[in-house]
Amino acid sequence: MIRTLVPVGVWALLGGLVGAWLGAATGWGVFAVGLLTMVLASGWQLSRIARWIHNIDDPPPPSVGPWDGILAPIYRKLKQNRLELQERTRSFQRVLLAAEALPDGALTLDADQALLWCNQTAATHLGLDLERDKHHSILNIVRSPEFAAYARQAQWDKPLVLHLKRESRERTLLLHLAPYGVGQFLMVTRDITQIERLENMRKDFVANVSHEMRTPLTVLSGFLETLHDMPEGALDPDQRRHYLGLMIEQSRNMQALVADLLTLSALESSPNRHGEPILLPALIQTALAQGQALSGGRHVFETQIDENLRILGADTELASAVTNLMTNAVNYTPDEGTITVTWARTEDGGARYAVRDTGIGIAEQDIVRLTERFFRVDRGRSRATGGTGLGLAITKHVAIRHDATLRIDSVLGKGSTFSIEFPPHRVCTAEAAAQDHAA
Ligand code: ADP
Repeated sequence: MIRTLVPVGVWALLGGLVGAWLGAATGWGVFAVGLLTMVLASGWQLSRIARWIHNIDDPPPPSVGPWDGILAPIYRKLKQNRLELQERTRSFQRVLLAAEALPDGALTLDADQALLWCNQTAATHLGLDLERDKHHSILNIVRSPEFAAYARQAQWDKPLVLHLKRESRERTLLLHLAPYGVGQFLMVTRDITQIERLENMRKDFVANVSHEMRTPLTVLSGFLETLHDMPEGALDPDQRRHYLGLMIEQSRNMQALVADLLTLSALESSPNRHGEPILLPALIQTALAQGQALSGGRHVFETQIDENLRILGADTELASAVTNLMTNAVNYTPDEGTITVTWARTEDGGARYAVRDTGIGIAEQDIVRLTERFFRVDRGRSRATGGTGLGLAITKHVAIRHDATLRIDSVLGKGSTFSIEFPPHRVCTAEAAAQDHAA
């Protein structure tokens, strides 16, 4: 106010002095010119202020007379607000980034359970598109009666396990709703497909093992009870020998099963090491001797073995894989059949152990299931040969641990070739092994 009144007073004083000297009319004229100058100056300052308003983030124009004292605090306040807003935006973005980095899906819903926000994981789990689905009810997006019933509950003490099928892919999700703030909801989603699959496998495995043990145990205890209840001398020596023979067979089956289970468990629990150069030809010769003993001259054996070729790996594991394929060939090849064993380099520099037989072969639809635990094409035949249904599962496991692949080629009624193909980095020759040893 003072800053406006002072120039008016100065012009009035000047006008008064000029009026006293040159007459009242001139004095008033000088005063009027003074006021006009002030009005024009003020208009010019206002137009600079108006221009600044459009670029309010810049500092205000300097020397705008009485406006200086008004604009400076406004600008300071604006600048402070701007900095606070920037800081809040940054922390909001940090929270959003953290929500995106969550291993679980997260989404927020309003009081009507309409979607407000979701992270990428939740979008993948539930097939959401934030732009498309925002403000739409989650019940219309996740169409499932179980989910609708869950979402309509008054409170959510437990999560919901939901099986969802989208684009021919099935997922099992664990969903948990929780209210937060005023009338808002947070939903957390977790993909438990793999966990559920493992849990089912574990249950199946326990059921299978119990089933496999029950058969020999039932037979064994049946015979033992019969022998126990029979009066002394009621069995002639031949019958007694027959019963004892059957009991020995059943207990051997159980022993084989336990041995295979222990091998599997050792494979699963021990770390996968690169291992030492293993003389596979020696392991093959041992397996061959076992196969020939099992065959008892019923089969013709042909071999083609590169004596120089070693594999970096674990000998006990490799021995069990090599022997499994050999004994299977004997067990599933009728008398007079031929079993051909090869151990040679492959074109890519790797190596291949193959056992070809002229046996019963395997139907195409069964080939893919052969390495499943306890899968047998003919349960009776496998049992009769003391098979556990775990041999190929073990062999495949061993192959994977040696970066190798188990290949199965078979024609029903004609024969099969089971081979383990090792990659070049696992192969090592006798010379290289000797050099390594010397070093
Ligand atoms: P098993 O102890 O029953 O032999 P494996 O896991 O070794 O268990 O083999 C699984 C099944 O694969 C066998 O029960 C058999 O049906 C089939 N199989 C394995 N090797 C051969 C083969 N050489 N020829 C035909 N069938 C085979």
